Amino acid sequence: MYKMMTPGPTMVAPSVLKARSREFGNPDTDADFCEEYHALCRELAGLLHTDNEVYILGGEGILGLEAACASLTEPEDRVLVIDNGVFGKGFADFVRLYGGEPELYTVDGRRPVDPEALRRFLEKNHDYKYATVVHCDTPSGVLNDIATICPLLKEYGILTVVDAVASMFGEEVRVDDWQIDVVCGGSQKALSAPPGLAFVSVSAAADAAMCSRRTPIASFYCNLLTFRDYYRDKWFPYTMPISDIYGLAEAVRIVREDTGRIERHRAIASAVRTAAERAGLERYLETGDASTVTVLRVPDGLTDRQIIDGMREKYDILISGSFDVLAGKVIRLGHMGRNADTEAVAQMMGALTGTLESLGYSCGCDMEREFRAELQNFRGHGIL
Ligand SMILES: *Cc1c(COP(=O)(O)O)cnc(C)c1O
Repeated sequence: MYKMMTPGPTMVAPSVLKARSREFGNPDTDADFCEEYHALCRELAGLLHTDNEVYILGGEGILGLEAACASLTEPEDRVLVIDNGVFGKGFADFVRLYGGEPELYTVDGRRPVDPEALRRFLEKNHDYKYATVVHCDTPSGVLNDIATICPLLKEYGILTVVDAVASMFGEEVRVDDWQIDVVCGGSQKALSAPPGLAFVSVSAAADAAMCSRRTPIASFYCNLLTFRDYYRDKWFPYTMPISDIYGLAEAVRIVREDTGRIERHRAIASAVRTAAERAGLERYLETGDASTVTVLRVPDGLTDRQIIDGMREKYDILISGSFDVLAGKVIRLGHMGRNADTEAVAQMMGALTGTLESLGYSCGCDMEREFRAELQNFRGHGIL
């Protein structure tokens, strides 16, 4: 099997695969399962620094985003869609699907949203039920300052919905301190479980907004209120994917015990970028790269496919291109979750050097050696 160094899905620990193969009972009727599910939701809440309810949903990360919009949006609700990337803009589609009126706040996709400019916008425009913002917008790798943006939105009484699917556990996410009403995460990114599960946290204010709707939620599967009383009633709205949840529990255990993970992500990301720049490669972003993914421009004269296929065929390492407006223009190196591992990333950088050289691009250095040398700056801090 090739090494999957993509910005999700990520490599999965053998113990997670093993946990998924555990024998299982009927999750609809087994009280033990309900307890395990509840305990796992509370653990996720702890890792996200929140007292809010957390629900694990049976579906990929996208399900959480759509469920947040389906559950909050009523016909004609005005929603501020903060857009500096593909996922950012994509929220407008979900808002529209459920009858809301998205208003796009679109800014340069090569840097994070500037909270001061947003403040000036909000001074004049703040009549929104909720706002959506992406923490790490993975196609470009930009990291938005949700620690500043969400409290700013709340000053104007706007509920906050954050897509933290690609940042969570590789970057700090503090739901209560940062006043995030709904945060969305997924199993297959920095948590390093297989794809298949989404989770959301729901604040009291978001819950109140869902409960006091004038119109019913126009979905069953995306209706977060169906989970609201699951623990009291010992009842789930649909049969929970129990094996996926066993795997998730093991992945969460690993993350919980990996206390240096945020600093390690930061060190590895920094060393990757320094090494790439020494090889003359250009970052897509001007500023604001997340620690979970590095996005590099495809050098002139090459295609993303040549680089991706070269690395896969010769080195058994899978990296990825991008999509939407960035399709063909960039390659993406994933270093999140289990892939934020110095050896795995060093090999990827060596393979990238070899592949580019074989395609006629002169790196002028060995990015693996540069990466390792750069990491020395972080050694001795107990994080690698
Ligand atoms: C991966 C990802 C998602 C979820 O997408 P899936 O197709 O369900 O994996 C949502 N938002 C962001 C920013 C992501 O990176």
